[in-house]
Amino acid sequence: MIIMEKTATIEQINDVIDEVISFGLKVDVSQGEIRTVIGIIGDERRISFADLALMPGVKEAIPVEKSYRFIGSDFNATSRRIVKVRDAQIGGSEPVIIAGPCAVESKEQIFRIAKEVQTAGAHILRGGIFKPRTSVYSFQGLGSKGESEARKALEWLRDAGHQYGMPVVTEVRGESHAELIAEYADILQIGSRNMYNQDLLSRVGKIGKPVLLKRHFGASIEDFLSYAEYIAAEGNRDIILCERGILPVSKGNSYARYILDLEAIPIIQRETYLPVIVDPSHAAGRNDLIFDMSCASIAAGANGLMIESHYNPRESFVDAKQAITPDALKDIITGVGEINKIATKYRQE
Ligand code: PEP
Ligand code: MN
Repeated sequence: MIIMEKTATIEQINDVIDEVISFGLKVDVSQGEIRTVIGIIGDERRISFADLALMPGVKEAIPVEKSYRFIGSDFNATSRRIVKVRDAQIGGSEPVIIAGPCAVESKEQIFRIAKEVQTAGAHILRGGIFKPRTSVYSFQGLGSKGESEARKALEWLRDAGHQYGMPVVTEVRGESHAELIAEYADILQIGSRNMYNQDLLSRVGKIGKPVLLKRHFGASIEDFLSYAEYIAAEGNRDIILCERGILPVSKGNSYARYILDLEAIPIIQRETYLPVIVDPSHAAGRNDLIFDMSCASIAAGANGLMIESHYNPRESFVDAKQAITPDALKDIITGVGEINKIATKYRQE
């Protein structure tokens, strides 16, 4: 990575770029308000950083040892990323709330939930159409019934969200569905189980729509960020990182599905400039913990929440135990709004 002086001229910047290219490498130029940062793509051992550092206009030339650089906080010369999707913003001053069912089940179900979560204060609608399931005999989502069923469900999700002013997010479970889903969804979700699927990450990175990447339940933070880099390396920086609980280290936690890693929130915000949200639903696996874990996440600085919600949680085809009602969602949204104000105030002082 080459950090230019604030006063560097266009000619000096171009000279540095030409020098890097002359070694058979590529560049990714980030033009901040204050300074320009030039990222090197390719095997940087081919180039001498000491020589680059001596070029006019160069402030610093640093080999990046970390496996993530385009998403690293050093790379963004100006500020934190705000991912803008239709009228919603992820990473701004207000926590964003993504809500909806685990799975889209029918047209009536998704339209009713969309209306109720929007009234409760949600900003973005979620709903799985291709569901990752442990058992091949469980409901796999409407998408698994063939392309025409998948398109129908995608249309319902998109129309339900947009009718109530919400962008929509749904999971891309496999490469073969990536483009199909991108025709309808505003945000492409990569589920926990696919966090390590580098081909899928590159594929959604290339599509260019915002990507919501969930941490694998066994992944270290470093692994999580290293794999997020696969999306960024395709030139796509609209990445939302989602903490959703990790596996316990010892015998297990028989009281909850996973352990919510709250420390991951400020750590990732220090390491990167990307927004970080929390999914307390899959972490807890039970509806009575969602309020507390949502509050804790926002207090820890999360930029938003993704919560499974259903008008009749017990009727949910999938993950019924963790779904909450739109009324409960409303209480959470009110509560975390207050917590965010206090946390922001003290964090700034
Ligand atoms: C989901 O959000 O629908 C989901 C399946 O979650 P995860 O990938 O975190 O298990
Ligand atoms: Mn679920």
